[in-house]
Amino acid sequence: MIKEEAIIIGAGPCGLAAAIELERIGLHPVIIEKSNIAHSISMYPTYMHFFSTPERLEIGEIPFTTPNDKPSRLEAINYYRTAALRNSLRVNAYETVLRVDRQDNGLFRLTSADRYGEEKQYEARYVVVATGYFDHPNYLGIPGEEMDKVTHFFREAHPYTGMEVAIIGGSNSAIDAALELERVGAKVTVIYRGAGYSSSIKPWVRPGFEAKVNNGVIRMLFESRVVEIDKRHVIVESPEGRHPVANDFVLALTGFHPDRDFLTSSGVRIEEEGFPYFDETTMETNVPGLYLAGVVASKHEANEIFIESGRFHGNKIAEHIVSLR
Ligand SMILES: Cc1cc2nc3c(=O)[nH]c(=O)nc-3n(C[C@H](O)[C@H](O)[C@H](O)COP(=O)(O)OP(=O)(O)OC[C@H]3O[C@@H](n4cnc5c(N)ncnc54)[C@H](O)[C@@H]3O)c2cc1C
Repeated sequence: MIKEEAIIIGAGPCGLAAAIELERIGLHPVIIEKSNIAHSISMYPTYMHFFSTPERLEIGEIPFTTPNDKPSRLEAINYYRTAALRNSLRVNAYETVLRVDRQDNGLFRLTSADRYGEEKQYEARYVVVATGYFDHPNYLGIPGEEMDKVTHFFREAHPYTGMEVAIIGGSNSAIDAALELERVGAKVTVIYRGAGYSSSIKPWVRPGFEAKVNNGVIRMLFESRVVEIDKRHVIVESPEGRHPVANDFVLALTGFHPDRDFLTSSGVRIEEEGFPYFDETTMETNVPGLYLAGVVASKHEANEIFIESGRFHGNKIAEHIVSLR
């Protein structure tokens, strides 16, 4: 049994920010990360740029400088890795937390599997769950979704040159992917259930996208849903009825949701609306000593917490732990 004062699950921006804050109050937390630092960001589209300006992504008051207005994915990975290394954060990489149980003595027992597949047991007074949402795409639950030509993660456009590509969704991820695909010569159809453009689309991106739709370069289907995928088509349902659209690849960019299995298995109360109970001022759940940080604490929509806001959860947790002393 490895004894720790505090364990943070997940080395995304919000888990790292929480670790820096706990270090500042004299705890020396270990972060257990199933992949490596800033894993989710490393899996984002290769050439993406954040919508936030760099200072809004900073953690631990470490300056994030870039000559660009909005940082790129690569700059963000470099920034978070440097922040972790400069603060000498303890990161157990390639180790997955499997269970968190609160024992009768008030301490938590964590079970994990390390990169060699060996089980490890920890005991800790405080646990911060900062597991994000990126592992859990919102599946459509339609026939054909399991086919190899369907992905919920867009990386880069090049493999789609000359192909008929359906993008499902109408948020920034869908719009950015459509523009990138069109530039490499893919034939793009965006299929979106909304009646008009989503208000969340970055205002500096929308005019260019709309122009491409208006010029017929990108096909945009509003009030439409894909109800089935087969080898050569997607079947689209719209107010006019059902019709097939020629298709080689599907990018289902329909968002993500946090997985709350640890939380429920360790006694966290799930509210009627489906999100876990926690105190907004301390980030503590109904289980004393078990905290949430980052996007795992989202309530209705997984996109209501960003790095911009989730990076401050660690401050609340640290303040609460200090107040208990
Ligand atoms: C394309 C895109 C663009 C975005 N742009 C912006 C932006 O401009 N500004 C902004 O503020 N936000 C932006 N966001 C949102 C932002 O990236 C997320 O809100 C942020 O990553 C959340 O950080 P987090 O630390 O909560 O979770 P994550 O970054 O997802 O980190 C969670 C970590 O937990 C690990 N983990 C999960 N389960 C386990 C387990 N069982 N055991 C061990 N480790 C585990 C994961 O591997 C991961 O490393 C964007 C999101 C996307 C998808």
